[in-house]
Amino acid sequence: MKEECGFNTKLLHGKYTKGFGQREILPPISQVTAFQYESMEELEKVFAHKSMGYAYTRIGNPTLAAFEQKICALEGGAGAVSCGSGMAAISSALLAVCESGDEIIAGSGLYGGTIDLFHDLEKLGIHTIFLNGLTKESVEEHITEKTKVVFGELISNPSLTVMDVPAVAEVAHNAGIPLFVDATTVTPYIVRPLSLGADVVIHSTSKYINGGGNAIGGIIVDSGRFPWDFDKHKALAEYKKYGRMAFLLRLRTDIWENLGGCMAPMNAYLSCIGVDTLGLRMDRICENADALAHALDAEEDITVSYLTLPEHPFHEYVEKELNGYGGGIFTFRAGSKERAFRIINGLKYALIASNIGDLRTLVIHPASTLYIHSGREGMEAAGVFDDTIRVSVGIENKEDLVADFLDAVRESRQG
Ligand code: PLP
Repeated sequence: MKEECGFNTKLLHGKYTKGFGQREILPPISQVTAFQYESMEELEKVFAHKSMGYAYTRIGNPTLAAFEQKICALEGGAGAVSCGSGMAAISSALLAVCESGDEIIAGSGLYGGTIDLFHDLEKLGIHTIFLNGLTKESVEEHITEKTKVVFGELISNPSLTVMDVPAVAEVAHNAGIPLFVDATTVTPYIVRPLSLGADVVIHSTSKYINGGGNAIGGIIVDSGRFPWDFDKHKALAEYKKYGRMAFLLRLRTDIWENLGGCMAPMNAYLSCIGVDTLGLRMDRICENADALAHALDAEEDITVSYLTLPEHPFHEYVEKELNGYGGGIFTFRAGSKERAFRIINGLKYALIASNIGDLRTLVIHPASTLYIHSGREGMEAAGVFDDTIRVSVGIENKEDLVADFLDAVRESRQG
């Protein structure tokens, strides 16, 4: 497969689509807990990493491997580890580089579950400094001897803050610190963070990568390029002999294996099928989101936040970093919680559901759901107010979506 082919061709015909046992077109679903061997000697070699083979699905499975190789190739990484959920991926990746006494620098406008995780890590002695936007200057100012990783979402969900990946990577690297990027909302179709300087990219594959809304999952892809300093990153010290691959080895053979957060084989299969249409879906989703956000923005009592709107504070990043795409999520403010509920309840096609990245358009009132435990300050830092509606745009016909939302907005004025 020539590297210069397009994204969709690579997705469908890369070398990770070949070499399954019986020449299957798709990876077979190895829906098993354990793998059997002819002799104890053979199994001993597998456990000792002296011969290739699978022993137990929590520590390796061919369907998971097929999914990992595919996403790893799309992201341009050196290796990938699939996980049971996006949160399992984020927590495993962070616990592989941090130990008690260490610090993390993170953007504040993150997905609510990730913010909650950082609060859980406090109890393990890992402190997070939340910055209101990860910029070169703010990161530089807050790096200390204890900082072990900088973490942020490339387009944050739902605050739509865009990280300037090359700038943040540069300042982190100057201090010997890796940059971990949650790229769930962009996907490798819009941008590949590793190519911009990030060291590790993480996805909740439950969203756009799976796309069909049928399998929770997560994945961590390592560039294999970060020059670890083992005196600084003590959590990796035992893996020193692996050099730049130390993070991946510590993650796979230690943290991931022992926390027990593996992906289910069936979910890996569903995500393998789902990702095949990623390029087509993202084109359509972004086109629909752009049309819908502009149509709502023209309503005078509605305030819309979407990256392709010229007044959005991160508008310039659409061309600068996002290859012309605005992504599939936008938010709008209805003026009051009551009106937000009336609009949501009045929609014909959009489903009221707590997810993003589905084929179907989904809406939610984040203040009363996703941010219910975050407190006003945390909520507002994530761009969520009492009257905010989050929309995850699907692939429906855009005329139908625009008409549906405009009808609901106009009818809500009468309430
Ligand atoms: N990261 C982002 C940006 C998300 O939006 C989400 C979930 O909404 C997660 C991580 C967590 O993913 P999961 O629900 O698969 O654990």
